[in-house]
Order: sequence, then C-alpha cells, then structure tokens
Amino acid sequence: MENRSFYNEILTEHNVRPEFKHDLPDADIVLEGVNPSCGDDIFLKLKTDGDTITDGAFVGDGCAISQASADIMLGMIVGKKKEEALQMGKIFMKMIKGDASEEEIDSLEEASALRDIAHMPARVKCAVLGWRTLKEALLGEDADDDDDEDGDSEPDYESLWRPVRNGLQSIQIRRVFHTHIDKNTRCFL
Ligand code: ZN
Repeated sequence: MENRSFYNEILTEHNVRPEFKHDLPDADIVLEGVNPSCGDDIFLKLKTDGDTITDGAFVGDGCAISQASADIMLGMIVGKKKEEALQMGKIFMKMIKGDASEEEIDSLEEASALRDIAHMPARVKCAVLGWRTLKEALLGEDADDDDDEDGDSEPDYESLWRPVRNGLQSIQIRRVFHTHIDKNTRCFL
C-alpha cells in the first residue's frame, strides 16, 4: 500500500516549492527551533486570533526533511484551532515513534509521507523540528510535559527552544546556539 516514491515526491515538492516558507511580518508568535545534530534552524511564525491559528509561515535553513516537514505542518494547522494543531502534533510524534495506528497515520494526510523516519533515528529530530517548535510556541513553558519524548535527547536539547518575541532576542539566541552546531554533521538529504 505504501508507495515510497509517492512519499518522496511529496517531500520533494514541499522542499522545492514550499508554500509557507516566507516572512510573516504581523505574526504574534515567533519561535526559533534548532536541531544542532543536523544544523536545521527555523523560525516558526504564527498569527493567532483567540484559539485559532489564522496564519503561519516559517523561515530559516535546514535539510530537506526539516523543511518539508515544517511546510507540510503549516498546511495542516493554518485555520485550525490550537488544540487541533496540538492533537495533530501528538499523532505525528506517535507516528515517528512507530506507535501510531494506520488510521492515525491516514489522518495526518501529507505528513504521513514522513512515516519511514521512524526507521531512521538520525533523522527523527529533523522531522519533528517544526512540530516541536509549534508545541512550544503554543504552550510555552507548559510544553515540558514530555509526553512525546523518546527519552534519549541530549541534555541541552530542551533549552534550544526559546520564545522569541522581538528581533533583538532572536539575534541573541542565534549567537548563543549556533556555536553548538557542528557543520560536519549536517545532513545531506
Ligand atoms: Zn535535518
């Protein structure tokens, strides 16, 4: 049933022609997510109205999987309630851990193209970067409940997610954390 080349096509399409990779000047939440093991570094930008995510975008750099995953995620969550977006994120994490049912994976639509990442431990952090950043952006400090943790993240991993609410702060964060990124470990896919 799974068609690997079809999945690859989805990922390639989102990577080459991302729909949501652009600035969003009037975003009310901006959060940087960094995956030092690969060098992925994105800024997730959300516009919200009460409980609803009315618009979203991302900018930054990273491997094909991190970029495609963030772009697919935004296509799923824009226009949705925050709670629905968090629920999708939970199912996505479950899929990445290899614990989701077929029905749950189907509910993820295009994001299900990343299901094989469950068998590629080195790429898991690339695939979940957008979703983890989203969770922290919506929940702030309450995002530490660790219900989706695989338990083997490096100790300073959590500290890489910091809310950025103005340009000045973002510059400081970039300066601090970029020193941890080893360019030699950047992924090539
Ligand atoms: Zn990556």
